[in-house]
Amino acid sequence: MTDLAKNEGVITPEEALLRLKEGNFRFLNNMPQNKDLLTEVDLTKDMQTPYAVILSCMDSRTSAELIFDQGVGDIFSIRIAGNVVTDGILGSLEFATAIAGASLILVMGHTSCGAIKGACDNVKLGYLSELMHRIEPAVEMANALFATGRSSKNIDYVSAVTKFNVEYAMAEIRQRSTIISELVKSGKVGIGAALYDVATGKVIFNGF
Ligand SMILES: [Zn+2]
Repeated sequence: MTDLAKNEGVITPEEALLRLKEGNFRFLNNMPQNKDLLTEVDLTKDMQTPYAVILSCMDSRTSAELIFDQGVGDIFSIRIAGNVVTDGILGSLEFATAIAGASLILVMGHTSCGAIKGACDNVKLGYLSELMHRIEPAVEMANALFATGRSSKNIDYVSAVTKFNVEYAMAEIRQRSTIISELVKSGKVGIGAALYDVATGKVIFNGF
């Protein structure tokens, strides 16, 4: 890994966020960059320098490269049901930032998330139960606001769990990874929140 770029703050977290905002704007307006992907394959064959890392859900409608109109080698895309944080996810985020030099971590939830709905209804299913368990803190936060209607049928309740789940993931990243929290303190890395609307293609950014 010694030939990979160390984090030298090549672009700022704010610039990285702007690139993603511009990318989603192009996606929404059907104006994709005219990229020659095979040329990009050639340009990145010896080294990658992605500027951001997106932690999002595995949902088939939420591919970060597509909705942010990105090419080969532009971003790291870490996807897991419910965009939850595990030890492996933390390690991947540390690699993306501390070793490969990404200056922005974007935690992105999305509307109509099956994992979130499953957690709202306390669904248990094989290994998925362990992932659902990681959404429970967000469910408990939402329960403090909703005395009734605590199920996936209540869209407001599902929205609240989705938002709290992103915020909880951001807090976990900061609190559990000393490497990332120090990069954030130094200003080299930013952590942002986003919500993707599967009905419109729009990414709503906040937390910056
Ligand atoms: Zn999902």
